[in-house]
Amino acid sequence: MADYSQKVTSSFNERMRLMRVRRKKEKLRFAEEFRIIPRWVIVLVIVLFLIAQAIALLVNLTAPERGEQVFPPELSGQGHVVLASLALAGLVTLVGIFFAAFVFLTAYVNRDAARRGMNSALWTILILIFLPTWGLIGLVIYFLMREPLPYPCPQCGASVSARFNFCPNCKCNLQPSCPQCKREVAELDKFCPYCGNDLAAGRTELAPQPSNL
Ligand SMILES: [Zn+2]
Ligand SMILES: [Zn+2]
Repeated sequence: MADYSQKVTSSFNERMRLMRVRRKKEKLRFAEEFRIIPRWVIVLVIVLFLIAQAIALLVNLTAPERGEQVFPPELSGQGHVVLASLALAGLVTLVGIFFAAFVFLTAYVNRDAARRGMNSALWTILILIFLPTWGLIGLVIYFLMREPLPYPCPQCGASVSARFNFCPNCKCNLQPSCPQCKREVAELDKFCPYCGNDLAAGRTELAPQPSNL
């Protein structure tokens, strides 16, 4: 039992550590992130939006011929056709924005999970399953749980996973802690920011100098 709770605690600590790594190493910008959404998804959403607008307008304008009411009914008078069409177009646009935001977010998760080495099909399905009953909760869980992106080793610049303990290229300690107070410190700190312990002295003398790659 103690063994089990120890495992849960350590996996929880690892999860918290990964979240800290993500906050520290990832500087994501919206414009760059948006670009990982496949082009065809964006084109598809735009085409669907235009089709929806065209159908709504067509149905509305031909309504009087079929003896039906124009939407919105308050504007059904002869002189208000343009106004009614604009109101309808605005409504379709509003619905379209929500629809597009959801499609783009789902496409983003699909691509983002893949580049983070996560199961992208599983996460996409999870988000779609959660949607009808739990709304956007699937997205919230995803943004909390996602693995950090690989980042450049602070010493040699080689790409390293957030789960690595050491850089496979230069053996830089990627999860260093102060030997004196045991608190987490940054990879290249010279002195512990908490107790002032000299960290450079304890580091391997053989580590190569940082290169300017
Ligand atoms: Zn390295
Ligand atoms: Zn310390």
